[in-house]
Amino acid sequence: MKRVAVFCLLIAAATLSITAAAYQNPPAAPRVIEIQKLKDNLYVLTSSSPADRTTFSGGNVAVYIGDAGVTLVDTKLAGWGQAVLDKIKTVTNKPVTTIINTHTHGDHTGNNDLFGANVTIVAHENTKTNMEKMDAFKGDKAKFLPSKTYKDKLSLGSGKDRIDLYYFGAGHTSGDTLIVFPALRTLHMGDLFAWKDAPLCDRNNGGSCVALPQTLAKAIAAIKDVDIVIPGHSPMMTPKDLQEYQRFTADLSAQAQAAMKAGRSVDEAAAAFKVDKYPGYKTERVKAAIQAVYDELKK
Ligand SMILES: [Zn+2]
Repeated sequence: MKRVAVFCLLIAAATLSITAAAYQNPPAAPRVIEIQKLKDNLYVLTSSSPADRTTFSGGNVAVYIGDAGVTLVDTKLAGWGQAVLDKIKTVTNKPVTTIINTHTHGDHTGNNDLFGANVTIVAHENTKTNMEKMDAFKGDKAKFLPSKTYKDKLSLGSGKDRIDLYYFGAGHTSGDTLIVFPALRTLHMGDLFAWKDAPLCDRNNGGSCVALPQTLAKAIAAIKDVDIVIPGHSPMMTPKDLQEYQRFTADLSAQAQAAMKAGRSVDEAAAAFKVDKYPGYKTERVKAAIQAVYDELKK
């Protein structure tokens, strides 16, 4: 009995270290990043599936080419920086002058250090606090933490180059920024809307699957005049997709809370959650999201 327990512990430790290594060590496979043109001066370095760690480059990066220089939304996973730079050079010779980090995770902040110390790095104040806990931003690397933060709303640039940053509350983390390019009618959601599946709510970084539907509802009410929605990790979406995702997350959170009250297990709640109403939705992350609701509401 004891030996079995030790063996299980060893397996668990090995699995953990493999997972950690997959996050930290860049893969040896060729680093291919695709670029998608959304507008004459707005491109996306698209995301590959996080499920395959050898080809996963990090989240969708927006490349906005303004008069003064290039603004990047997120910087993908460490080790993919050169591929990011090479792709940017295929569409502009202008230097990167601003980086906006949508949130703290390494697949969105992994190459902040590649663009020089003169780049302005912007994020929500809670994201800066979360990033300060990361090894990637300790010691000498602290200079690649956000140098500019905000609380509720911030505008960068002016005229046609204006970029609006919004914060509506906890969700994927405690510091998710939504970025609007008003002249281009485009919204970058970061991982507050990453995919058509249940949300990942990172409770260690202040994320909340309970608050997330309300945070999304506030965003939808406040942000109008948008045609294109850039999600965190999947192909381009529309405002209709975002509204549907809000309903999906509200439904999931409500059902999880009802199941918890009724004394049902997480497994039972996950099995009972049906996505038929939501065409194209996956259920791979449903159980983890329900677990996050249970953990959050457990007294
Ligand atoms: Zn994330």
